[in-house]
Amino acid sequence: MLWKETEYNGWGRVLKATGRMARPEKPSALTGIFTENPCPAIGSLRSYGDAALNSDGDAIQMTRLDRFIGFAPETGILEAEAGVSITDILSTFSPQGWMPAVMPGTGFATLGGCIANDVHGKNHHGAGTFGDHIESIELLMADGKVKRLSANRNKDLFRATIGGLGQTGVILSARIRLKPCSSRMIQVDERRADSLAEFMGMLETSTATYCVGWIDATAKGSALGRGILEEAELTSSNMTPKLRKARKIPMDAPSFALSPPTVRVFNKAYFNRIPEQGRGVLRSLEDFFFPLDKIHDWNRLYGKRGFHQFQCVLPDETAEETLTEMLRRISNSGLASPLAVLKRTGSGNAGHLTFPIKGFTLALDFANANGAEELVRGLNRLTANAGGRIYFAKDSLATPEDVAGMFPEMADWQQIAGTADPNRSFETDLTRRLKIRGKK
Ligand SMILES: Cc1cc2nc3c(=O)[nH]c(=O)nc-3n(C[C@H](O)[C@H](O)[C@H](O)COP(=O)(O)OP(=O)(O)OC[C@H]3O[C@@H](n4cnc5c(N)ncnc54)[C@H](O)[C@@H]3O)c2cc1C
Repeated sequence: MLWKETEYNGWGRVLKATGRMARPEKPSALTGIFTENPCPAIGSLRSYGDAALNSDGDAIQMTRLDRFIGFAPETGILEAEAGVSITDILSTFSPQGWMPAVMPGTGFATLGGCIANDVHGKNHHGAGTFGDHIESIELLMADGKVKRLSANRNKDLFRATIGGLGQTGVILSARIRLKPCSSRMIQVDERRADSLAEFMGMLETSTATYCVGWIDATAKGSALGRGILEEAELTSSNMTPKLRKARKIPMDAPSFALSPPTVRVFNKAYFNRIPEQGRGVLRSLEDFFFPLDKIHDWNRLYGKRGFHQFQCVLPDETAEETLTEMLRRISNSGLASPLAVLKRTGSGNAGHLTFPIKGFTLALDFANANGAEELVRGLNRLTANAGGRIYFAKDSLATPEDVAGMFPEMADWQQIAGTADPNRSFETDLTRRLKIRGKK
C-alpha cells in the first residue's frame, strides 16, 4: 500500500497535522499493514477540530472503501463499506423509497465517521442517534483480526465502538437500518421566534419529525435568542428534485467578509425573510438536510486563519439560564457568524460516549479572530458547570478538566478501549489533548 506524507486539517482549518496517509482501495490492503502498523482510520475529515488528526503518525483514509455490499428491499437493511458517504446512501436509495434514519448536517460524512462520532440529526428527539440504527459492525482490531459486533455479539465492544472516536479499531463495514421515504421531497414549515424563551417553547412543543432552529446570535436585549424554527415532514410528491451543481469558494475569503456589521445585516435580513405568519416550502431532501453542501469548501469563507465551532448540549433543568448567558456573551463579543443552530435533543445512549442528552443543543461557528479562543473556552466552562457536554466532533479548544465528568460511562469505555487497543495505536490528536483514553 502507498503511504504519502500529507498535511491535512480538521474542517475548521485551525488544527492541522502532518503525517503519512494511506488511502486503500481494498479491505485486504488494510489487513496487510495492520499486523505491523495499526493506526487510526479517518473519513472525509468533516470533524471540525482534531478528532481525525494524527500529528506525526500514520492515518488511513477510508473514503475509497466505498462499496455497497448488500441491500434487502423488504427490510431496508443496507450493508456498506465504511467509506460510503451519507449522500451516496441518500441519492442511491431514496429513489427506491429508503433513506438513512439519522443524517448529520453534511452528506460528505462517511458511514465510519458517523458511527465513530455517533452523529445526530434534525430528528434526534424522536429517532436517537446514528448508533440506534446499526445492526452490526465489522471491526478490524489492533491485532489484525476482524470481529463482528452487534447488540448480541461482542456487545460491550459494539457500544464502545459507537461514538468511540475510532479508538477500538477500524470500522470496515456496517449493516444499518434505513427508514422508508415516500419521495425525494420534504415539506418544511418555517416560523419566527422573537425571543429565546419563545424559541425554546416552540422547540419543546413541536410534534414534527424533523425540527431545527436557526438562531440570530447577534441579537441583543429583548430579541436575544430570536430565530427561525423549521419543522419538516417527509411527503409524497411526484417532483424530482433539481439538484444544482455545488459551487466552489475559489480562495480564502478576506477577513472583512464576516465582520460584525456584515453578520448583523445578514442576520436581520435572514430573520425578516420569513413572514410573521410563517410559511411552508417544499424542498429536496438534500437541500433540507445538507444546506451547506451546496457550496464546496465553504470553510474557506472564514479566511486563512480558519474558525472554531462550539457545540454543547445542556440538560432541560439548566438550559434556559445557561443559553441566556451564552448568547449574551456571544452577542456582546461581536464574534458570531451567521451559522448558529439551536435544536432539541431527546435522551439516548447508543454508545458510552454518545454526545446528546435530553435537553437543548447549541452550535455556532466563530472566525479564529482575536478573542474567539477565550470566548469558546468560557462557553466550555459554562457547559461543564451546567451539567452539559461538548461535542468531540466539533471541539478544538476544550481541556481535560472541562470534559472530566461530562460522560458518566467514560471509565467503562476506557477499560473496553484499553483491552481492544492496549498499545494505544488508534490515539488521535483529540484523544491525546483531552486525555480521553485515561491513565496508562
Ligand atoms: C457542515 C457540517 C454539518 C454537520 N452537522 C452535524 C450534525 O448535524 N450532527 C452531527 O452529529 N454531526 C455533524 N457534523 C459533524 C460530522 O457529521 C462528524 O464530524 C462526522 O464524524 C464526520 O464524518 P467523517 O467521515 O468526515 O469523519 P472524520 O471527521 O474524518 O472522522 C471522525 C472520527 O471518526 C473516526 N473514523 C472515521 N472513519 C472511521 C472508520 N472507518 N473506523 C474507525 N473510526 C473512524 C476518526 O478517527 C475520527 O475520530 C457536521 C459537520 C459539518 C462539516
